[in-house]
Amino acid sequence: MGEVAAEVEHVDVLVVGAGISGIDAAYHFAHEEPDKSFLVLDGLESFSGTWLMHRYPGVRSDSDLYTFGYGFKSWTGPPIATAEEIRAYLGEVIEENDLAGRIRYHHRIVSASWSGDEDRWTVTATRTDTGQTVVVSCGFLWMCQGYYRHAEGYTPEWPGMERFAGQIVHPQTWPEDLDLTDKQVLVIGSGATTATLVPAIAGDCAHVTVLQRSPTYFYAGPNSNETADMLRDLEIDETWIHEIVRRKILHDMQAVTELSFEEPEFLTDVLIDLVAQQLPEGYDVAKHFTPRYRPWRQRLAYLPDGDLFTGISSGAASMVTDEIATFTETGVRTVSGVDLDADVIVTATGFNLSVLGDIAFTIDGTELDLAQTITYRGMMFTGVPNLAWIFGYFRASWTLRADMVCALVCRILDRMDDLGAHRVTPVLRPEDAGDEVLDWIDPENFNPSYLMRSLHLMPKRLAKPEWQHSQDYWTERDLLPAADLDDGCLRFT
Ligand SMILES: Cc1cc2nc3c(=O)[nH]c(=O)nc-3n(C[C@H](O)[C@H](O)[C@H](O)COP(=O)(O)OP(=O)(O)OC[C@H]3O[C@@H](n4cnc5c(N)ncnc54)[C@H](O)[C@@H]3O)c2cc1C
Repeated sequence: MGEVAAEVEHVDVLVVGAGISGIDAAYHFAHEEPDKSFLVLDGLESFSGTWLMHRYPGVRSDSDLYTFGYGFKSWTGPPIATAEEIRAYLGEVIEENDLAGRIRYHHRIVSASWSGDEDRWTVTATRTDTGQTVVVSCGFLWMCQGYYRHAEGYTPEWPGMERFAGQIVHPQTWPEDLDLTDKQVLVIGSGATTATLVPAIAGDCAHVTVLQRSPTYFYAGPNSNETADMLRDLEIDETWIHEIVRRKILHDMQAVTELSFEEPEFLTDVLIDLVAQQLPEGYDVAKHFTPRYRPWRQRLAYLPDGDLFTGISSGAASMVTDEIATFTETGVRTVSGVDLDADVIVTATGFNLSVLGDIAFTIDGTELDLAQTITYRGMMFTGVPNLAWIFGYFRASWTLRADMVCALVCRILDRMDDLGAHRVTPVLRPEDAGDEVLDWIDPENFNPSYLMRSLHLMPKRLAKPEWQHSQDYWTERDLLPAADLDDGCLRFT
C-alpha cells in the first residue's frame, strides 16, 4: 500500500466512474439533491471512460447521439459521432453544470467495505499519478464503472500465436505509433469495432482482410437525420429538435425490435437485401453478410454512408468467412486451408467483462460475491445495502437506461430522507421466495459473446420486472419511473 492520506473524507454519495454514466449521475445528483454532498472518482486522467480509452482509427459511436446523448442536453452534430465529438459533448455537460470541482481523476478504487454499525461504505483508492492511498467514506455508493475491463481487451488463445512474426494488436490497446502504410492487415472479428476500423484504415494500408467466423447484421445509411435537418431549416429550437428526433428514432427502433420478434425472417430478408444493394453485383452476400442468428439478438451495426461496403467495393478491403486453424509465421491458416498473410493482425474480438470495476467488496467483513445476489431492477442487489450501479442497454443506447436509473436512485434517496432511514437494501419478498432464479440475461433474447463468456459472474434475476434488467427500453420507460418503492422489494431501515 502506498502512503495513506491522513484524512478520511466523507460524502453523502460517492460516484465511481466519470464516463457517460458517471457524468449522468453527477448531473442528476447536482440538480435533484442539491443539499447532499457528492464526489466522482475515476482511475483515468480525464472524463468519458470508453471515449477516452479507445484510440483506434475511426473510433465512433454505433448508436445515434440523439438517444446515446442525454435527455437533458441537445445533440447538434451528426447522429453517429466520433470519440472526440462525444468527449466535447460530455465536456460541455461538465462545464455547463459546474461539475469539474466534483470529479477527481487518477483515483483507481481497489476496495469498498460496508459497515452496518456505521451505515457507510469505506472506499480505498490508489492514486495512479502519485501512488498515494486515498480513503473516502460515503453513505451511498453509486457504481458507474461500465461493463468491461479498460486495461486490456479479450483475445482468444489460438494455436501457434507465438509463431507469428508480425505484430498482433487489440483495438482497445492500439499503439499510438502504429504505422500501417503499405502493410497487409488482417482484422479478426466482424462486430462494430471492425466496421469502424476497416473503413478508417482501408485507404492507408496495402490491403485489409476481415476474417470472421460468422457474419454480423449491418445496415447502412447517411450520417444525417432527415427530421433534424428539416427542423433546423425551419429554425426550430435545438431542445425541441433533440426531443422530437429522439422520440422519432425510438419509435422507429421499437418497430424494428417488434419486427425482429414477430417476423424475423422478413426483417432478415430486408436487411440482407439492403446489404446486397451496396455491394458489387455477384458478391457472395449469403456467405459473408447473412448471419446465423435472428436480427436484434446482438446490436445491429450501423454503417454511416455504408463506408465498410465502399471499402469492399473498391477492393481495398475483403471478407473471409472461415475459422482459424492456426497462426503461422506469416499470418493465419484457416480451417479450409487458406493462408492469409499479414504484417499486422488486429484482434477485434471484444471485451473482458468487468463486474463492479474489479473492486474487492466486503459487507461487514464478508467478501461480496455478486453472482449470488438477485438484481433489483438491474440496478441494486439483494443483501447489498446503499449501492446502485448503472448498467445500460446493449441494443438500444446505453444512456437511455442510465437516465432512468439516475432518476430512480434520486427517488430512493429522497424516500430514505422521508423515512429517516440510513439504509436501503433489496430483499426478496415472501411471494418471490419460490421463483426460479435465472441468469442475468436470457440468451435466447440477447447473446453477445462477451456477456455469454462471463454470465456466471453476473447477478441473477427473477422473471418479474422488479427483479430483472429486461434490456427492453420500451417496457422499462413506463416501469422504471413508476416503480413502487413501497412494494416490499426495498427494505428501508
Ligand atoms: C468503441 C465503443 C463504441 C461504443 N458505442 C456505443 C454506442 O454507440 N452506443 C451505446 O449505447 N454503447 C456503446 N458502447 C458501449 C459503451 O461502453 C457504453 O455505452 C458507455 O460508454 C458506457 O459508459 P459508462 O460511463 O457506463 O462506462 P465507461 O465508459 O466504461 O466508463 C467507466 C468509467 O469508470 C471508471 N472505472 C471503472 N472501474 C473503476 C475503478 N475501480 N476505479 C476508478 N474508476 C473506475 C473507468 O476508468 C471509466 O472512466 C461502445 C463501446 C465501445 C468500446
